[in-house]
Amino acid sequence: ARRDRATPSRGPGRTADGRAVKLLVNIGSAAQLRGDEAAGAEGVGLFRTELLFLDRSTLPGLDEQVRAYAEVFAAMAGRPVVIRTLDAGADKPLPFLDQAGEPNPALGVRGLRVARRRPEVLRTQLEAIDLASRRTGADVRVMAPMVATAAEAREFAMITRAAGLSNVGVMVEVPAAALRAPQLLDQVDFLSIGTNDLSQYVFAADRQCGDLAELLDPWQPALLQLIAACATAGGAAGKPVGVCGEAAADPLLAVVLAGLGVTSLSMSPRALAPVRAALAAHTLADCARLAKLALAAEDAEQARATVRSEARPVP
Ligand code: PEP
Ligand code: MG
Repeated sequence: ARRDRATPSRGPGRTADGRAVKLLVNIGSAAQLRGDEAAGAEGVGLFRTELLFLDRSTLPGLDEQVRAYAEVFAAMAGRPVVIRTLDAGADKPLPFLDQAGEPNPALGVRGLRVARRRPEVLRTQLEAIDLASRRTGADVRVMAPMVATAAEAREFAMITRAAGLSNVGVMVEVPAAALRAPQLLDQVDFLSIGTNDLSQYVFAADRQCGDLAELLDPWQPALLQLIAACATAGGAAGKPVGVCGEAAADPLLAVVLAGLGVTSLSMSPRALAPVRAALAAHTLADCARLAKLALAAEDAEQARATVRSEARPVP
């Protein structure tokens, strides 16, 4: 009842002049889709599959994976789901993948890199995703974490399409991937920018280190510049480029991201309503102007302050 009538609490993401920016949710299991907040999402932008693999000593089998994925696909009833293949390593260690002993796990064999060492892990996961998607008839898209090169994107796309899954993307979490966004887009159907890891690698700042919060601030102009490069490449290729890191959950930054040309924003369910309201208060031209101001700022603090003072009031 507290919600203003001018602030739609449901419905698709739109700027004031009607440009669509899809509002999606980040989840780790079907349980996170229950409740009112997630009901307003246009789809799942990031289904983290690590949860199924954590706190156990062996890999989950095919059937167990099919059940877990099908539960999420069915719960979304027709809305698209972007499922991410296993992102093990660094901040998500998995004992049975023999990653112990790496001196720098964040720079080690993590994410898609594990698939080189253990191809059967990826193969089984893709088979489970394909079976679950057939069982539920869901609109499923698959993406890989920690992709650094277009060659990696090509290899992942080949394996994934061979497994029967046709809509394939990669995450942009490594600066090299952002710099080569056009080449990545030659290989895949979409990009999804993971700002948590992209910040970590752009600023050489451990994402788990609280002392480095200033460098990891998603308003950092250098980060925004890389996002802009990806969005521009997406526009040229006519392919979607979304953001699924924490940056997408900040309503004011969401307006900036829309202005940079990002086509979807994926966030925790509780951020949907405020982000939807901020977008609805700005035209695409407003978004573009604010994005330009943020890019021109000297640092994160100035970017945030300038955009805050220039943004329109959000009802
Ligand atoms: C990211 O890195 O921004 C991301 C969305 O993935 P995760 O937080 O799971 O590493
Ligand atoms: Mg990540």
